Amino acid sequence: MIDAVVVGGGIAGLATAYELSKRDRSFVVLERGARAGGVILSEEIDGFTIDGGPDALLIQKPDGIQLCQELGLGDRLVVTKPPRLAYIQRGGTLHPLPAASVLGIPTRFGPFARTRLFSWPGKIRMGMELFIAPRRAGSDDGDESIGAFMTRRFGREATTYLAEPLLAGIHAGDVDRLSLQALFPRFAEAERTHGSLLRAFSRRPTGPVSVEGAFKSLPGGLSEMVRALVTTLGPAQVRTGTRVDAISGRGPFLVRTSNAETIDARAVVLATPAFATSALMRDRDEEIARLAGEIPYASAATVALAFKRDDVRHPLNGSGFVVPRVEATGILAGSWLSSKWPNRAPDGHVLLRTFVGGARDPEALQKSDQELVALSMNALRPLLGIRGEPRFTRIFRWERSNAQHEVGHLARVAAIERALGKHPGLFITGSGFRGTGIPDCVADGRATASAVDAFLQTSAKV
Ligand SMILES: Cc1cc2nc3c(=O)[nH]c(=O)nc-3n(C[C@H](O)[C@H](O)[C@H](O)COP(=O)(O)OP(=O)(O)OC[C@H]3O[C@@H](n4cnc5c(N)ncnc54)[C@H](O)[C@@H]3O)c2cc1C
Repeated sequence: MIDAVVVGGGIAGLATAYELSKRDRSFVVLERGARAGGVILSEEIDGFTIDGGPDALLIQKPDGIQLCQELGLGDRLVVTKPPRLAYIQRGGTLHPLPAASVLGIPTRFGPFARTRLFSWPGKIRMGMELFIAPRRAGSDDGDESIGAFMTRRFGREATTYLAEPLLAGIHAGDVDRLSLQALFPRFAEAERTHGSLLRAFSRRPTGPVSVEGAFKSLPGGLSEMVRALVTTLGPAQVRTGTRVDAISGRGPFLVRTSNAETIDARAVVLATPAFATSALMRDRDEEIARLAGEIPYASAATVALAFKRDDVRHPLNGSGFVVPRVEATGILAGSWLSSKWPNRAPDGHVLLRTFVGGARDPEALQKSDQELVALSMNALRPLLGIRGEPRFTRIFRWERSNAQHEVGHLARVAAIERALGKHPGLFITGSGFRGTGIPDCVADGRATASAVDAFLQTSAKV
């Protein structure tokens, strides 16, 4: 019998296993797919380094970077290339996201006055945020959508041209459904304590005061992190091509796999997407199965496109751009991967990537590869002055891969945690539950492993 089975070999499951191994616990990670890493997938093609899924580790949430350092990858971490600009498309033009901003809303007057991203009536409405009364007492505990919050405080234009495209570009999500309390609790807190976000954030720095920018990555793409984890854990402990079909017993548990074997374990960690967690819990706890099954996921694709530098007229001076829904260009965002990170394309070439689908366009994944490339080229060609065709393209389809923490998410997760109390030895982690970015998944996986360790210690004493 082993101490723990970890179901799911995405970053959440691997981070859980890493912390278990540090605590000298015996474990095995069972992963349905042919490789570990889940949505983390990097490829080398003809001297181009392509991240098909995530490419960036947020510095402000240090858990992802710290894990890289512990894995011996500290010296390999790279920062984004200057100028560290991101853009928003409006009216066929790219406008730099104003510096010193709260989700893109300038907190200083200078960038506010200069930007042509907003109309003057829009700017005036945003400035009036200082005088908009906070939400009525009594309703403060209630969650609301980020769209409702931004429109209430800054006006419709701020939601249309900032919050909506940024959330579509980061979470593949719908601004009118995503939860303020789950994703931006500090905004709700700032409103409550200062009465105004502009007042709150103009007094203190809004992001990392760093010459390094906001993100780091690895030169071979983020799969480097996955490879280092698998090597550290021991490849035999990370079994790919092994789907978990059922979990029975009340501790010890019997974990049945698609290879028709049964593994005995004192504890089980479900590090699967919420819908898979729901399926695995169905015979055991209807309430958990129902609540986990209610957590929505968006599907999206990324389309990597390689060009000769001379075929792209735009200076590509930044990391890329997001596209508001109202611009209707067919893509959610465009990343200039070779301008964002060092050494992603050979000399004389550039690597671009579009982000397609998400909550905005749920049918996008039904499109053929050719259609996705054509749609990406139609969006990029006029904006970046592209001549000719890409040298090559690569399409990554991410079916139901972006967890959506919608209004009411925190209450749902709290209910899941309460119900989980009835199943000692069973644990849940992963992006569907307590945080979606890689740093959150790493932090939650490690915290879950600590809870497993504490459980094993107490159950050993009984
Ligand atoms: C396109 C894209 C870009 C992103 N960009 C960023 C970024 O730049 N920075 C960032 O921080 N975050 C980013 N994210 C978010 C972040 O990458 C993910 O939220 C995170 O990696 C999810 O990790 P996970 O382990 O929870 O889930 P997953 O990676 O989905 O892993 C879950 C694993 O469970 C396995 N599984 C499911 N059912 C079973 C079963 N029954 N038995 C065994 N195994 C099973 C699956 O095969 C899968 O490998 C991005 C996400 C996407 C999709």
